[in-house]
Amino acid sequence: MTRSISIFGATGSIGQSTLDLVRRDRDAYRVVALTGGRNVAQLAADAREFGAELAVTSFEDCLPALREALGGTGIAVAGGTQALIEAADRPADWTMSAIVGAAGLAPGFHALRHGRTLALANKESLVTAGPLLMAEARAHGARILPVDSEHSAVFQALVGEDMAAVERIIITASGGALRDWPLDRLAEATLADAGAHPNWDMGQRITIDSASMFNKALELIETKEFFGVAPDRIEAVIHPQSIVHALVGFRDGALMAHLGAPDMRHAIGYALHWPDRRALPVERVDLAKLAMLEFRAPDMARFPALRLAREVMAAGGGAGAVFNAAKEVALDLFIAGRIRFTDMAPLVEATLDAMSREIRLTDAMDGLETVLETDHLTRIRAQDLGLSMQEQTA
Ligand code: NDP
Ligand code: MG
Repeated sequence: MTRSISIFGATGSIGQSTLDLVRRDRDAYRVVALTGGRNVAQLAADAREFGAELAVTSFEDCLPALREALGGTGIAVAGGTQALIEAADRPADWTMSAIVGAAGLAPGFHALRHGRTLALANKESLVTAGPLLMAEARAHGARILPVDSEHSAVFQALVGEDMAAVERIIITASGGALRDWPLDRLAEATLADAGAHPNWDMGQRITIDSASMFNKALELIETKEFFGVAPDRIEAVIHPQSIVHALVGFRDGALMAHLGAPDMRHAIGYALHWPDRRALPVERVDLAKLAMLEFRAPDMARFPALRLAREVMAAGGGAGAVFNAAKEVALDLFIAGRIRFTDMAPLVEATLDAMSREIRLTDAMDGLETVLETDHLTRIRAQDLGLSMQEQTA
Protein backbone atom coordinates (compact mmCIF):
# COMPACT_ATOMS: atom_id res chain seq x y z
CA MET A 1 0.00 0.00 0.00
CA THR A 2 1.44 3.41 -0.93
CA ARG A 3 1.47 6.11 1.70
CA SER A 4 0.82 9.72 0.80
CA ILE A 5 3.38 12.13 2.21
CA SER A 6 4.08 15.87 2.23
CA ILE A 7 7.36 17.52 3.19
CA PHE A 8 7.49 21.10 4.45
CA GLY A 9 11.00 22.50 4.14
CA ALA A 10 11.92 19.83 1.57
CA THR A 11 14.91 21.81 0.27
CA GLY A 12 16.61 22.00 3.68
CA SER A 13 18.92 19.65 5.52
CA ILE A 14 16.12 17.61 7.15
CA GLY A 15 13.96 17.76 4.02
CA GLN A 16 16.75 16.39 1.83
CA SER A 17 17.51 13.60 4.30
CA THR A 18 13.82 12.71 4.31
CA LEU A 19 13.77 12.55 0.51
CA ASP A 20 16.89 10.40 0.60
CA LEU A 21 14.98 7.78 2.60
CA VAL A 22 11.90 8.07 0.41
CA ARG A 23 14.04 7.68 -2.72
CA ARG A 24 15.32 4.31 -1.48
CA ASP A 25 11.78 2.92 -1.38
CA ARG A 26 10.24 5.05 -4.10
CA ASP A 27 7.21 2.89 -4.86
CA ALA A 28 6.01 2.86 -1.27
CA TYR A 29 5.13 6.57 -1.36
CA ARG A 30 2.99 9.05 -3.21
CA VAL A 31 4.31 12.59 -2.78
CA VAL A 32 1.53 15.13 -2.33
CA ALA A 33 3.27 18.43 -1.57
CA LEU A 34 6.87 19.58 -1.36
CA THR A 35 7.67 23.07 -0.07
CA GLY A 36 10.80 25.16 -0.06
CA GLY A 37 11.91 28.75 0.25
CA ARG A 38 14.41 30.40 -2.04
CA ASN A 39 16.09 27.28 -3.39
CA VAL A 40 13.75 26.99 -6.35
CA ALA A 41 16.09 24.84 -8.44
CA GLN A 42 16.22 22.14 -5.75
CA LEU A 43 12.49 22.29 -5.16
CA ALA A 44 11.73 21.95 -8.86
CA ALA A 45 14.19 19.09 -9.30
CA ASP A 46 12.71 17.19 -6.35
CA ALA A 47 9.12 17.84 -7.43
CA ARG A 48 9.96 16.37 -10.84
CA GLU A 49 11.90 13.41 -9.50
CA PHE A 50 9.21 12.43 -7.01
CA GLY A 51 6.25 13.34 -9.19
CA ALA A 52 4.81 15.66 -6.54
CA GLU A 53 1.24 16.89 -7.00
CA LEU A 54 2.16 20.34 -5.74
CA ALA A 55 5.32 22.41 -5.23
CA VAL A 56 5.18 25.51 -3.04
CA THR A 57 7.74 28.21 -2.43
CA SER A 58 7.08 30.19 0.73
CA PHE A 59 8.27 33.37 -0.97
CA GLU A 60 5.90 34.89 -3.52
CA ASP A 61 8.72 36.55 -5.44
CA CYS A 62 10.16 33.07 -6.16
CA LEU A 63 6.94 31.83 -7.74
CA PRO A 64 7.64 32.94 -11.34
CA ALA A 65 10.94 31.01 -11.34
CA LEU A 66 9.23 27.93 -9.88
CA ARG A 67 6.43 28.17 -12.44
CA GLU A 68 8.96 28.34 -15.23
CA ALA A 69 11.02 25.45 -13.89
CA LEU A 70 7.97 23.19 -13.66
CA GLY A 71 6.18 24.34 -16.81
CA GLY A 72 4.65 21.50 -18.80
CA THR A 73 5.08 18.92 -16.02
CA GLY A 74 1.50 19.02 -14.77
CA ILE A 75 2.80 19.72 -11.24
CA ALA A 76 0.75 22.46 -9.58
CA VAL A 77 2.78 25.41 -8.24
CA ALA A 78 2.00 28.05 -5.63
CA GLY A 79 3.81 30.68 -3.57
CA GLY A 80 3.49 32.56 -0.29
CA THR A 81 2.51 31.89 3.30
CA GLN A 82 -1.13 31.18 2.50
CA ALA A 83 -0.06 28.66 -0.15
CA LEU A 84 1.89 26.78 2.54
CA ILE A 85 -1.29 26.49 4.59
CA GLU A 86 -3.26 25.29 1.60
CA ALA A 87 -0.59 22.67 0.99
CA ALA A 88 -0.95 21.54 4.62
CA ASP A 89 -4.69 21.23 4.09
CA ARG A 90 -4.20 18.68 1.30
CA PRO A 91 -4.74 15.19 2.69
CA ALA A 92 -1.55 13.21 3.30
CA ASP A 93 -0.98 10.23 5.61
CA TRP A 94 2.37 11.55 6.86
CA THR A 95 3.69 15.10 6.94
CA MET A 96 7.23 16.21 7.70
CA SER A 97 7.46 19.61 9.39
CA ALA A 98 11.01 20.78 8.58
CA ILE A 99 10.73 24.47 7.84
CA VAL A 100 13.22 26.40 9.97
CA GLY A 101 11.90 28.91 12.50
CA ALA A 102 8.46 30.01 13.63
CA ALA A 103 7.41 30.04 9.95
CA GLY A 104 6.90 26.28 10.37
CA LEU A 105 4.23 26.69 13.03
CA ALA A 106 1.07 27.35 11.00
CA PRO A 107 1.55 24.60 8.38
CA GLY A 108 2.10 22.04 11.15
CA PHE A 109 -1.07 23.13 12.90
CA HIS A 110 -3.05 22.75 9.74
CA ALA A 111 -1.68 19.29 9.01
CA LEU A 112 -2.77 18.19 12.51
CA ARG A 113 -6.29 19.45 11.95
CA HIS A 114 -6.84 16.69 9.47
CA GLY A 115 -5.97 14.01 11.97
CA ARG A 116 -2.74 12.80 10.44
CA THR A 117 0.74 11.93 11.52
CA LEU A 118 3.05 14.90 11.85
CA ALA A 119 6.77 14.16 11.99
CA LEU A 120 8.04 17.20 13.84
CA ALA A 121 11.56 18.45 13.18
CA ASN A 122 10.53 22.10 13.57
CA LYS A 123 11.30 22.45 17.29
CA GLU A 124 10.14 26.06 17.22
CA SER A 125 6.54 24.76 17.03
CA LEU A 126 6.75 23.20 20.48
CA VAL A 127 8.76 26.08 21.97
CA THR A 128 6.36 28.78 20.80
CA ALA A 129 3.06 26.93 21.06
CA GLY A 130 3.63 23.58 22.78
CA PRO A 131 0.39 23.32 24.78
CA LEU A 132 -1.71 24.46 21.79
CA LEU A 133 -0.01 22.06 19.40
CA MET A 134 -0.38 19.07 21.72
CA ALA A 135 -4.05 19.97 22.38
CA GLU A 136 -4.68 20.32 18.65
CA ALA A 137 -3.26 16.85 18.03
CA ARG A 138 -5.42 15.36 20.80
CA ALA A 139 -8.55 17.14 19.58
CA HIS A 140 -8.19 15.76 16.08
CA GLY A 141 -6.83 12.32 16.92
CA ALA A 142 -3.59 13.19 15.16
CA ARG A 143 -0.17 11.97 16.17
CA ILE A 144 3.03 13.94 16.58
CA LEU A 145 6.27 11.99 16.22
CA PRO A 146 9.44 13.79 17.36
CA VAL A 147 12.25 14.08 14.83
CA ASP A 148 14.75 16.14 16.80
CA SER A 149 17.36 13.46 17.53
CA GLU A 150 17.26 13.82 21.33
CA HIS A 151 13.48 13.67 21.44
CA SER A 152 13.30 10.75 19.07
CA ALA A 153 15.81 9.05 21.36
CA VAL A 154 13.67 9.70 24.44
CA PHE A 155 10.56 8.57 22.56
CA GLN A 156 12.31 5.30 21.67
CA ALA A 157 13.60 4.77 25.22
CA LEU A 158 10.02 5.15 26.46
CA VAL A 159 8.50 2.43 24.28
CA GLY A 160 6.57 0.09 26.56
CA GLU A 161 7.31 2.20 29.65
CA ASP A 162 4.95 3.90 32.07
CA MET A 163 5.45 7.69 32.23
CA ALA A 164 4.68 7.52 35.95
CA ALA A 165 7.93 5.59 36.41
CA VAL A 166 10.03 8.28 34.73
CA GLU A 167 12.21 10.21 37.15
CA ARG A 168 14.21 12.32 34.72
CA ILE A 169 15.10 12.91 31.11
CA ILE A 170 18.66 13.71 30.09
CA ILE A 171 19.38 15.15 26.66
CA THR A 172 22.92 15.42 25.39
CA ALA A 173 24.66 18.32 23.66
CA SER A 174 27.82 18.17 21.61
CA GLY A 175 28.75 21.61 22.90
CA GLY A 176 28.99 22.93 19.35
CA ALA A 177 31.81 24.46 17.40
CA LEU A 178 33.16 26.70 20.17
CA ARG A 179 32.98 24.37 23.15
CA ASP A 180 36.75 24.38 23.69
CA TRP A 181 37.35 28.06 22.99
CA PRO A 182 38.64 30.14 25.90
CA LEU A 183 35.70 32.03 27.41
CA ASP A 184 37.34 35.42 26.90
CA ARG A 185 37.68 34.82 23.16
CA LEU A 186 34.05 33.89 22.49
CA ALA A 187 33.13 37.50 21.69
CA GLU A 188 35.44 37.33 18.65
CA ALA A 189 33.83 34.21 17.18
CA THR A 190 32.91 34.75 13.53
CA LEU A 191 30.09 33.23 11.53
CA ALA A 192 32.52 30.69 10.07
CA ASP A 193 33.80 29.76 13.54
CA ALA A 194 30.30 29.22 14.95
CA GLY A 195 29.05 27.48 11.82
CA ALA A 196 31.52 24.58 11.79
CA HIS A 197 29.83 21.80 13.75
CA PRO A 198 32.16 19.06 15.03
CA ASN A 199 29.73 16.14 14.52
CA TRP A 200 26.47 16.99 12.78
CA ASP A 201 25.88 18.26 9.27
CA MET A 202 22.84 20.55 9.62
CA GLY A 203 21.36 23.80 8.35
CA GLN A 204 23.30 26.99 9.10
CA ARG A 205 20.90 28.36 11.72
CA ILE A 206 20.75 25.28 13.94
CA THR A 207 24.53 24.86 13.66
CA ILE A 208 25.11 28.34 15.11
CA ASP A 209 22.42 27.65 17.70
CA SER A 210 24.44 24.60 18.70
CA ALA A 211 27.52 26.73 19.32
CA SER A 212 25.56 29.17 21.48
CA MET A 213 23.53 26.32 23.07
CA PHE A 214 20.35 28.12 22.12
CA ASN A 215 19.59 24.87 20.31
CA LYS A 216 19.83 22.92 23.58
CA ALA A 217 17.81 25.66 25.33
CA LEU A 218 15.03 25.19 22.77
CA GLU A 219 15.30 21.43 23.22
CA LEU A 220 14.88 21.62 27.00
CA ILE A 221 11.61 23.48 26.42
CA GLU A 222 10.69 21.05 23.64
CA THR A 223 11.20 18.15 26.08
CA LYS A 224 8.95 19.74 28.68
CA GLU A 225 6.19 20.39 26.15
CA PHE A 226 6.31 17.10 24.28
CA PHE A 227 6.74 14.68 27.16
CA GLY A 228 4.90 16.72 29.80
CA VAL A 229 7.74 16.40 32.30
CA ALA A 230 8.45 19.03 34.99
CA PRO A 231 11.45 21.26 34.15
CA ASP A 232 13.44 20.16 37.23
CA ARG A 233 13.38 16.62 35.86
CA ILE A 234 15.01 17.59 32.59
CA GLU A 235 18.78 17.86 32.29
CA ALA A 236 21.24 18.70 29.54
CA VAL A 237 24.72 17.19 29.60
CA ILE A 238 27.68 17.84 27.32
CA HIS A 239 28.69 14.76 25.36
CA PRO A 240 31.28 15.68 22.72
CA GLN A 241 31.00 12.44 20.68
CA SER A 242 27.23 12.81 19.91
CA ILE A 243 26.69 9.05 20.10
CA VAL A 244 24.35 8.94 23.09
CA HIS A 245 21.44 11.18 22.12
CA ALA A 246 19.35 11.02 25.27
CA LEU A 247 18.72 8.95 28.38
CA VAL A 248 15.59 8.30 30.39
CA GLY A 249 16.03 7.76 34.11
CA PHE A 250 13.43 5.63 35.90
CA ARG A 251 12.42 5.53 39.57
CA ASP A 252 14.38 2.33 40.13
CA GLY A 253 17.56 4.17 39.14
CA ALA A 254 17.83 2.53 35.72
CA LEU A 255 18.92 4.67 32.78
CA MET A 256 17.80 3.73 29.27
CA ALA A 257 20.06 5.35 26.71
CA HIS A 258 19.70 5.69 22.97
CA LEU A 259 22.93 5.42 20.99
CA GLY A 260 23.46 5.88 17.29
CA ALA A 261 25.64 7.55 14.70
CA PRO A 262 25.04 11.30 14.41
CA ASP A 263 22.89 11.05 11.29
CA MET A 264 19.43 12.61 11.20
CA ARG A 265 18.17 9.85 8.91
CA HIS A 266 17.99 7.76 12.06
CA ALA A 267 15.33 9.90 13.74
CA ILE A 268 13.62 10.72 10.44
CA GLY A 269 13.48 7.04 9.51
CA TYR A 270 12.08 6.08 12.90
CA ALA A 271 9.27 8.61 12.45
CA LEU A 272 8.70 7.56 8.85
CA HIS A 273 8.31 3.86 9.63
CA TRP A 274 6.84 4.10 13.13
CA PRO A 275 5.60 1.92 14.77
CA ASP A 276 7.86 -0.42 12.77
CA ARG A 277 11.61 -0.31 13.08
CA ARG A 278 13.06 -0.86 9.61
CA ALA A 279 16.57 -1.07 8.18
CA LEU A 280 18.19 2.35 7.74
CA PRO A 281 21.30 3.34 5.76
CA VAL A 282 23.11 4.83 8.76
CA GLU A 283 26.58 4.05 10.00
CA ARG A 284 26.76 1.45 12.76
CA VAL A 285 28.37 2.44 16.03
CA ASP A 286 31.56 0.55 16.82
CA LEU A 287 32.01 0.94 20.57
CA ALA A 288 35.48 -0.57 20.68
CA LYS A 289 36.66 1.83 18.01
CA LEU A 290 35.13 4.77 19.85
CA ALA A 291 36.82 3.59 23.06
CA MET A 292 35.51 6.52 25.08
CA LEU A 293 32.26 8.35 25.63
CA GLU A 294 32.60 11.52 27.70
CA PHE A 295 29.99 13.43 29.65
CA ARG A 296 30.27 16.66 31.61
CA ALA A 297 28.03 19.32 33.06
CA PRO A 298 27.60 22.39 30.87
CA ASP A 299 29.42 25.53 31.99
CA MET A 300 26.60 27.97 32.73
CA ALA A 301 28.86 31.02 32.27
CA ARG A 302 29.71 29.87 28.77
CA PHE A 303 26.12 29.02 27.87
CA PRO A 304 23.70 31.62 29.34
CA ALA A 305 21.00 30.33 26.95
CA LEU A 306 20.51 27.34 29.27
CA ARG A 307 19.71 29.61 32.23
CA LEU A 308 17.26 31.56 30.09
CA ALA A 309 15.55 28.31 29.05
CA ARG A 310 15.00 27.49 32.74
CA GLU A 311 13.40 30.89 33.28
CA VAL A 312 11.21 30.44 30.22
CA MET A 313 10.06 27.00 31.36
CA ALA A 314 9.23 28.37 34.80
CA ALA A 315 7.19 31.22 33.30
CA GLY A 316 5.33 29.09 30.73
CA GLY A 317 2.57 30.92 28.79
CA GLY A 318 3.92 33.22 26.10
CA ALA A 319 7.51 33.14 27.33
CA GLY A 320 8.47 30.43 24.84
CA ALA A 321 7.14 32.43 21.88
CA VAL A 322 9.04 35.52 23.05
CA PHE A 323 12.21 33.51 23.68
CA ASN A 324 12.14 31.90 20.27
CA ALA A 325 11.36 35.08 18.33
CA ALA A 326 14.05 37.03 20.21
CA LYS A 327 16.51 34.23 19.52
CA GLU A 328 15.67 34.24 15.81
CA VAL A 329 16.27 38.00 15.60
CA ALA A 330 19.50 37.77 17.59
CA LEU A 331 20.69 35.03 15.23
CA ASP A 332 19.75 37.12 12.17
CA LEU A 333 21.76 40.05 13.58
CA PHE A 334 24.75 37.83 14.30
CA ILE A 335 24.62 36.30 10.81
CA ALA A 336 24.40 39.82 9.34
CA GLY A 337 27.52 40.77 11.31
CA ARG A 338 25.68 43.41 13.33
CA ILE A 339 26.13 41.95 16.81
CA ARG A 340 28.78 39.71 18.32
CA PHE A 341 28.36 36.04 19.16
CA THR A 342 28.25 36.86 22.87
CA ASP A 343 25.62 39.59 22.34
CA MET A 344 22.94 37.09 21.37
CA ALA A 345 22.05 35.86 24.88
CA PRO A 346 22.01 39.37 26.46
CA LEU A 347 19.78 40.53 23.61
CA VAL A 348 17.35 37.65 24.16
CA GLU A 349 17.34 38.35 27.90
CA ALA A 350 16.74 42.08 27.39
CA THR A 351 13.89 41.28 25.00
CA LEU A 352 12.30 38.90 27.53
CA ASP A 353 12.54 41.69 30.14
CA ALA A 354 11.08 44.31 27.83
CA MET A 355 8.24 42.05 26.67
CA SER A 356 7.39 41.07 30.24
CA ARG A 357 6.58 44.74 30.85
CA GLU A 358 4.21 44.77 27.86
CA ILE A 359 2.38 41.47 28.26
CA ARG A 360 1.93 38.98 31.08
CA LEU A 361 4.34 36.32 29.89
CA THR A 362 2.83 33.68 32.15
CA ASP A 363 -0.65 33.96 30.62
CA ALA A 364 -1.52 30.93 28.52
CA MET A 365 -1.71 31.51 24.78
CA ASP A 366 -5.35 31.22 23.73
CA GLY A 367 -4.74 30.39 20.09
CA LEU A 368 -2.41 30.37 17.14
CA GLU A 369 -3.25 34.02 16.36
CA THR A 370 -2.04 35.13 19.80
CA VAL A 371 1.19 33.20 19.37
CA LEU A 372 1.84 34.76 15.97
CA GLU A 373 1.01 38.23 17.33
CA THR A 374 3.42 37.73 20.25
CA ASP A 375 6.06 36.49 17.83
CA HIS A 376 5.54 39.58 15.66
CA LEU A 377 5.69 42.09 18.55
CA THR A 378 8.77 40.41 19.97
CA ARG A 379 10.63 40.63 16.67
CA ILE A 380 10.04 44.40 16.50
CA ARG A 381 11.23 44.84 20.10
CA ALA A 382 14.28 42.59 19.65
CA GLN A 383 15.24 44.35 16.43
CA ASP A 384 15.19 47.76 18.22
CA LEU A 385 17.15 46.47 21.18
CA GLY A 386 19.62 44.72 18.89
CA LEU A 387 20.31 47.81 16.86
CA SER A 388 20.91 49.93 19.95
CA MET A 389 23.24 47.19 21.18
CA GLN A 390 25.10 47.42 17.88
CA GLU A 391 25.50 51.19 18.27
CA GLN A 392 26.88 50.77 21.77
CA THR A 393 29.53 48.26 20.73
CA ALA A 394 30.41 49.97 17.42
P1 NDP B 1 17.59 24.34 6.70
O1 NDP B 1 17.95 25.77 6.87
O2 NDP B 1 18.56 23.40 6.12
O3 NDP B 1 16.24 24.23 5.85
C1 NDP B 1 15.12 25.01 6.16
C2 NDP B 1 13.98 24.76 5.19
O4 NDP B 1 12.96 25.75 5.44
C3 NDP B 1 14.36 24.94 3.73
O5 NDP B 1 13.50 24.14 2.95
C4 NDP B 1 14.08 26.42 3.50
O6 NDP B 1 13.90 26.74 2.14
C5 NDP B 1 12.80 26.57 4.28
N1 NDP B 1 12.55 27.94 4.73
C6 NDP B 1 13.46 28.84 5.16
N2 NDP B 1 12.85 29.97 5.55
C7 NDP B 1 11.52 29.77 5.38
C8 NDP B 1 10.36 30.57 5.59
N3 NDP B 1 10.44 31.82 6.08
N4 NDP B 1 9.15 30.05 5.30
C9 NDP B 1 9.05 28.80 4.82
N5 NDP B 1 10.11 27.98 4.57
C10 NDP B 1 11.32 28.48 4.86
O7 NDP B 1 17.10 23.84 8.14
P2 NDP B 1 17.24 22.39 8.79
O8 NDP B 1 16.78 21.36 7.84
O9 NDP B 1 18.57 22.27 9.43
O10 NDP B 1 16.20 22.51 9.99
C11 NDP B 1 14.80 22.45 9.78
C12 NDP B 1 14.12 22.36 11.15
O11 NDP B 1 14.49 21.13 11.74
C13 NDP B 1 14.53 23.45 12.13
O12 NDP B 1 13.44 23.77 12.94
C14 NDP B 1 15.62 22.79 12.95
O13 NDP B 1 15.73 23.33 14.25
C15 NDP B 1 15.10 21.37 13.01
N6 NDP B 1 16.14 20.36 13.22
C16 NDP B 1 17.15 20.22 12.31
C17 NDP B 1 18.15 19.28 12.50
C18 NDP B 1 19.21 19.06 11.48
O14 NDP B 1 20.00 18.14 11.62
N7 NDP B 1 19.32 19.85 10.44
C19 NDP B 1 18.18 18.45 13.73
C20 NDP B 1 17.06 18.64 14.59
C21 NDP B 1 16.08 19.58 14.35
P3 NDP B 1 15.12 27.20 1.16
O15 NDP B 1 16.35 26.53 1.64
O16 NDP B 1 14.62 26.73 -0.18
O17 NDP B 1 15.18 28.69 1.25
MG1 MG C 1 18.56 18.04 18.49
